[in-house]
Amino acid sequence: MTFDLTSEQDQLRDAVRALGRRYGHGYFVEKAKAGEHTTELWAEAGRLGYLGVNIPTEYGGGGGGITELAIVCEELAAAGCPLLLLVVSPAIAATVIARHGTEEQRKRHLPGLADGSAKIVFAITEPEAGSNFHRLGTVARRDADDWVLNGRKCYISGVDEAGHVLVVARTEDSATGKLKPALFIVPTDAAGLTRSKLDMEIVSPENQFLLYLDDVRVPADALVGESLDAGLPALFSGLNPERITVAAMGAGTGRYAIERASEYTATRKVWGGRSIGSHQGVSHPLAHAAVQVELARLMIQKAATLYDAGRDLEAGVAGNMAKYAAGEAAALAVDTAVQVLGGAGMTTEYGVATLLGAVRAGRIAPVSREMILNFVAQHVLGQEKSY
Ligand SMILES: Cc1cc2nc3c(=O)[nH]c(=O)nc-3n(C[C@H](O)[C@H](O)[C@H](O)COP(=O)(O)OP(=O)(O)OC[C@H]3O[C@@H](n4cnc5c(N)ncnc54)[C@H](O)[C@@H]3O)c2cc1C
Repeated sequence: MTFDLTSEQDQLRDAVRALGRRYGHGYFVEKAKAGEHTTELWAEAGRLGYLGVNIPTEYGGGGGGITELAIVCEELAAAGCPLLLLVVSPAIAATVIARHGTEEQRKRHLPGLADGSAKIVFAITEPEAGSNFHRLGTVARRDADDWVLNGRKCYISGVDEAGHVLVVARTEDSATGKLKPALFIVPTDAAGLTRSKLDMEIVSPENQFLLYLDDVRVPADALVGESLDAGLPALFSGLNPERITVAAMGAGTGRYAIERASEYTATRKVWGGRSIGSHQGVSHPLAHAAVQVELARLMIQKAATLYDAGRDLEAGVAGNMAKYAAGEAAALAVDTAVQVLGGAGMTTEYGVATLLGAVRAGRIAPVSREMILNFVAQHVLGQEKSY
């Protein structure tokens, strides 16, 4: 067992950290408040190869794994730039297409995802189904050589920035039976696909949307994989990368908040010569949060290592645990940072309260803490399924 990164991974971490710090949280917030996207940061990260680290080299990527992508997610977040679309586009969409797409789909989509010139977002959540994916109601019907999709999706991130959306549907003949998902790569400008922006209480340059699919017609080759049998494995293949990278983003956000807070409490003096950080009522909560973040990072490392070794089932358990731990740790770290900064904690200038909404959402999405506890209770503790 080793806890060391390889020298290439170390270099990647240092380089991404430097890039993130060049932009910083001020840039992230400014973009969010102006209703703009972090286009410059995304483009530069793409040019430098950081968005494609996990994509096979033959399609223009770095040939690494989820360990490398988790490093990118964590370091950008640790610099104050937690980019949710990293989780959606390179982690979910690129993995699904690389592992289960046809050769034609790989050639068509992966190079753009690798250099950042293209984004593919992911649409599974539906208003009526929520956490219960077995209730998905979006249906794909075969019509000659085409597929016709109908349904509703909600909270879909980044549709306004993406050329395609990976839509999870069920085929018409499976509409009443057990979920047999089929995944479709749908152009965001397809006829019949409309969207409306949701007002979210999250300071983020990335937006969430309601998606309406009304007779959206796509060609046969929009279906991910060679046949309908590819659907379930393709969907599952995206879940571990999603959980691991979203956890990494949470851990990075936690590190960022603790660093901001520690700098402040080490120098802020309101009781004579001693810093407020010398009071254990201030330093212990921060130290506690730092322990929780570090524990989460350890679990992320384990999950990514298992995933990259092809041990998907074990990675599933570790990835869920990492996501749970990081979601809780990030929320704790940001809330603690706000508290120890006092009034400054609530200002935009000090850049921690701006993350409250994001870390709160991290306990709900992409899978809620309760659904992870259900998973652990059932699959690790052998408890009867409760729902
Ligand atoms: C910022 C943000 C970005 C998102 N981006 C995307 C995206 O890009 N693509 C996408 O498809 N989705 C996205 N989502 C949706 C997200 O995945 C869902 O919000 C999440 O899966 C929970 O579903 P729900 O909101 O319908 O909650 P519900 O399923 O309605 O659950 C509500 C509450 O009840 C709890 N609950 C439900 N069932 C159980 C149970 N059996 N046992 C215990 N507790 C239970 C849940 O944990 C939750 O706390 C995003 C959400 C947010 C907030």
